[in-house]
Amino acid sequence: MRDENCIFCKIANGEIPSSTVYEDDDFRVILDLGPASKGHALILPKQHYKDICEADMAVTGKILPLAAKIGSAMKKGLGASGFNVVQNNGTSAGQTVFHLHVHVIPRYENGPVMVAWNPGKAESRELEETAGILKNALAEELFTEEK
Ligand code: 5GP
Ligand code: ZN
Repeated sequence: MRDENCIFCKIANGEIPSSTVYEDDDFRVILDLGPASKGHALILPKQHYKDICEADMAVTGKILPLAAKIGSAMKKGLGASGFNVVQNNGTSAGQTVFHLHVHVIPRYENGPVMVAWNPGKAESRELEETAGILKNALAEELFTEEK
């Protein structure tokens, strides 16, 4: 499925040119126009899914293995010493383009800190309570999927 108004559909399917580093039947991997670091890549499925919750698992299941290969190539080819795999879902999570995509961001020695958060504090009772709520909600999700 494609969305005529979606820029990543057009890029993924080659209607808009991009700096492509890999392409197969399911994905196009391009360089981000606003890179967080040199070589910042985006894995774009060719099919339109708003986010990871909407996507076909046959497609999402291929993303992490591909990200690992891209990350290894960043180390070999660009001299990166590590990489982050980042995927935003929803405006509150920082998603700005509503076509599923996965960032692979190379990291370099002495480069700036990215993809970091300030660790909070949680009492064990609070953790237990939250785990209980999440466990029940997740069980419902998994049950719905099986039906
Ligand atoms: P998000 O914030 O939705 O996770 O990430 C969207 C990313 O897409 C951003 O890092 C942004 O720089 C990148 N981006 C947005 N429009 C284009 C475009 O037309 N071409 C390319 N190559 N990257 C884009
Ligand atoms: Zn799209």
